Amino acid sequence: MAAKKHAHKKCISVFKKLSEYIDGELDEKTYEEMRVHIKECVKCEVCLEMLRRTVDLCSNMKMLRVPDRLREQLKLMVHGPSNP
Ligand SMILES: [Zn+2]
Repeated sequence: MAAKKHAHKKCISVFKKLSEYIDGELDEKTYEEMRVHIKECVKCEVCLEMLRRTVDLCSNMKMLRVPDRLREQLKLMVHGPSNP
C-alpha cells in the first residue's frame, strides 16, 4: 500500500492560519509550507476555497447594500422617540 502519510495535526495548524494565508500576512516559510500542504490535502483546499468565497462575499456586500439593522437605526434616529 502506498498510502500517503497524512498529518492531521498539520491540517489543524493550517486551518488556524487560513485567514492570514488569504490576507498574505504570513512569512515566506510558513506560506510555502501551507501552500504545499493545501496542494496535497483536499480537505484544506476546500476550506481555503470556502473561506476565500466568504471573504469575497462579505466585502462585496458591504459595498452593495446597507444592512437592515443599520437602516433601522437610521430610521430611529430620524423618526425615533428621542427626536420627536
Ligand atoms: Zn490538510
